[in-house]
Amino acid sequence: MTFTQRHLLGIEPLHPMEITAILDLAEDYAALNRSDRKHSEALKGLTQINMFFENSTRTQASFELAGKRLGADVMNMAMQTSSVKKGETLIDTALTLNAMHPDLLVVRHPSSGAVNLLAEKVNCAVLNAGDGRHEHPTQALLDALTIRRKKGRLHRLTVAICGDIAHSRVARSNLILLGKMENRVRLVAPPTLMPAGVSEFGCEVFDDMRAGLQDADVVMMLRLQKERMDGGFIPSEREYYHRYGLDAEKLACAKPDAIVMHPGPMNRGVEIDGTIADDINRSVIQEQVEMGVAVRMAAMDLLARNLKAARNAA
Ligand code: ASP
Repeated sequence: MTFTQRHLLGIEPLHPMEITAILDLAEDYAALNRSDRKHSEALKGLTQINMFFENSTRTQASFELAGKRLGADVMNMAMQTSSVKKGETLIDTALTLNAMHPDLLVVRHPSSGAVNLLAEKVNCAVLNAGDGRHEHPTQALLDALTIRRKKGRLHRLTVAICGDIAHSRVARSNLILLGKMENRVRLVAPPTLMPAGVSEFGCEVFDDMRAGLQDADVVMMLRLQKERMDGGFIPSEREYYHRYGLDAEKLACAKPDAIVMHPGPMNRGVEIDGTIADDINRSVIQEQVEMGVAVRMAAMDLLARNLKAARNAA
């Protein structure tokens, strides 16, 4: 068995072979999702609970659809209006849910590390759907699958990750994954949005976008995460767009067949020009969404297999 994890808390703990195992299975699910009969029974009889303590549209919908296509009983907890607001701690919420015997818990939380903490308290598989600035593993996996399908490989590529790196769990998970798979990663951001110590990850750092995009195979844009900023990070959105917004002129610095990615939601005219985002010859943003469902199906399937094996062995 190549995939040995009990939870999917981040990319950090994954072996490159485990990443490949998820992507290979996701290819099968991508084909299933394009067929007329989109159902499998991989999670039949199992209960999946989605707990989103932070707003999400696409990730929550994607996990819900993935679980339903695999035959699980899927429940969405409205955490914004739950007893958490009445003062219940994260651990109490987790223990309450645990008593309902879920098999898969999908959790998004605004605090880095909260999902790992929760995973220690429950006896089901936990998937991190984004925790603070820490990790967003299924996003990096769906990005990897999209890149592998478009470029025919997931190694020795030059990938420029651009924009609000400092607040981005997407950047962090991608940086780790792309590094593990032996790609050349460049981080492009103004100094105020570049976290300290990034060079430890073995990537190159640029504050000039044209230089950072030079000969890149993949241009990955990030959303300016205004909700995580308390002011002073950028002079103005207009100035930011001028220097770091992806437009045709800056994209021309990358390879002629470079693909453009964005995890969504997008701020058009702030980090990316709307025409580039909609250009089906360059932008793979819709394919990223499509691969998101497939990758989440694969990750939940593999975790469920390990869960069942552990329960049978107990
Ligand atoms: N949807 C991604 C996340 O949850 C990216 C973003 O919000 O900018 O991190």
